[in-house]
Amino acid sequence: MTLCSVCGVREAVYYRSYSGERLCQRCLLRAVERLVSRSLSAANPRPTSTFLIPLSSFAPSSSLAMARVLWGAERRFPRTKVVLAVPDFMADRVLLQGLPEGLSLEVFEVRPPPPGSADLISCIRYDRAWSLRAAESLGADIIVLPLSRTDLTLLTLEALLSGDRDALSDALRSLSVGGISVVAGAAELEREALAALEFLSGFADVKPMCSLKIASKGVLMSIFGRPEVDYGGLKIPEVLFGQLKDRPRCSICGGLSPGGVCTRCKVMGLEALSVKRLGQLHHPGPGGPEGPS
Ligand SMILES: [Zn+2]
Ligand SMILES: [Zn+2]
Repeated sequence: MTLCSVCGVREAVYYRSYSGERLCQRCLLRAVERLVSRSLSAANPRPTSTFLIPLSSFAPSSSLAMARVLWGAERRFPRTKVVLAVPDFMADRVLLQGLPEGLSLEVFEVRPPPPGSADLISCIRYDRAWSLRAAESLGADIIVLPLSRTDLTLLTLEALLSGDRDALSDALRSLSVGGISVVAGAAELEREALAALEFLSGFADVKPMCSLKIASKGVLMSIFGRPEVDYGGLKIPEVLFGQLKDRPRCSICGGLSPGGVCTRCKVMGLEALSVKRLGQLHHPGPGGPEGPS
């Protein structure tokens, strides 16, 4: 058995390739918590902030891992609140058993549902559009998307290679829309560490509603070889976005869009977006989940 390089006591379960560390489950969780706290500082949270984590259409297991990590942060900052927002069509996919008891779970009726498959930028715009409405209804001031540093690099490449410079607004670590901050919760973290936490927490089998079509994955791999060692993904989109930030925004998803509602929102039918709060989903304890009340 290999011992954890940090605590030297417990068995290592994760090899962190960019640092060469071997971490036990507890030290991995602590490292992720620290880096997620640092990522969230980009949204300038207040001591009484409410963080809303939408259960993502394309990476629900990452949203569940973020909820688990933020729950740890909530205990450290007792006046902040963490809410996992679950669209009704995904309520049966939430593995409540792996989530901490006491975490707030709010179910929303969201129409229309996401497309069965789409590019990453469309998926992000879908998740942001409905969760902005959900955040308004709950008075939440920060939305946490389950995006890592690796994902932000991929988004930058998707925007640049597709010639859609307005999509750079979706590659930022933090975007303010109507007074609500939408933040990439794992911006300081490599994707593989988040994936390891998902797996170790038992969330890896939660199926996405929207499967991703990623055109530039090959480019990402060939440029960086190991995407987890990339550090450009945070700075480059910010610098490029600096040239564009006065351009108009889509009134539905908040992304840059020169002509009112963006093309992606139109294609996904979001001009008719409706988001209704249905109620709380209660933690099952040992007996299994209950429906919304
Ligand atoms: Zn350890
Ligand atoms: Zn839009």
